[in-house]
Amino acid sequence: MPTNAIIDRKRFIKVLGGRLMKIIFMGTGTSLGVPVIGCKCKVCVSCNPKNKRTRASICVQTASGKNVLVDTATELRLQAVRNDVSSVEMILFTHYHADHIHGLDDVRKFNQSSRGTIPCYADEATIERIQRVFFYAFDHDYSWGAIPHITLKPMPPELWLEEVRITPVNLHHGKAQILGFRFNDAAYLTDCSAIPPESVERLKGLKLLIIDALRYKEHPTHFNLEGALKAIEEIRPERALLTHLSHEFDHEQVNSGLPPHVALSYDSQVVEVTD
Ligand SMILES: [Zn+2]
Ligand SMILES: [Zn+2]
Ligand SMILES: [Zn+2]
Repeated sequence: MPTNAIIDRKRFIKVLGGRLMKIIFMGTGTSLGVPVIGCKCKVCVSCNPKNKRTRASICVQTASGKNVLVDTATELRLQAVRNDVSSVEMILFTHYHADHIHGLDDVRKFNQSSRGTIPCYADEATIERIQRVFFYAFDHDYSWGAIPHITLKPMPPELWLEEVRITPVNLHHGKAQILGFRFNDAAYLTDCSAIPPESVERLKGLKLLIIDALRYKEHPTHFNLEGALKAIEEIRPERALLTHLSHEFDHEQVNSGLPPHVALSYDSQVVEVTD
């Protein structure tokens, strides 16, 4: 870390009494969302708002209110409206599956509020897929406002947004390799079925771990609840929240059976992580 950044960061901690960043859960659901279309199961018909899950995404907010969006989930407009996220400085993509990129068109509004192009960071496969799926976004014959204006760049080993240090973490999502991200002492690992040993090393000393837990039964490309709990035991964060949740999980019922430092996340949950 450059010396100036260390000094700035210490100053931030002093001014704000250690309150450094907020994590807003934009969505916590699996690719079908919850309720699932046409499903009448107990969770899908539940009135508990914590059982209503849009597609998985988080927004990491710095102490001064700058936002890093992780993935552009299918319901991005609704998520941004209900969580009052009106501007975004940077977007990180975990991978190219539809539930994680299909809200990209809604970035147009963020372009207007920031009056500029938004830098996006992803792995090579995701950059290539976004360029194909959202081909019109790279056609400069369109007028301003009609397309999302983004620049796609390979994720570097380290990024900074104010006091927040962002580093990528390689994950296995079935046979695919995708990215998780560490933000100071918090990490977001959606869509994963295994964590390579070198990534476990990069996740030491976490205050908050957010990790995929799709359902009870095993799944070829996602941790089930048991797998997520094992990964939490290995990584040993102070606190863990589970995401990318299916309609198998009733919020209150599952939470009541989890260890005290682990819980299901829910849409619009906001967690502060101090340094
Ligand atoms: Zn997904
Ligand atoms: Zn259901
Ligand atoms: Zn996926």
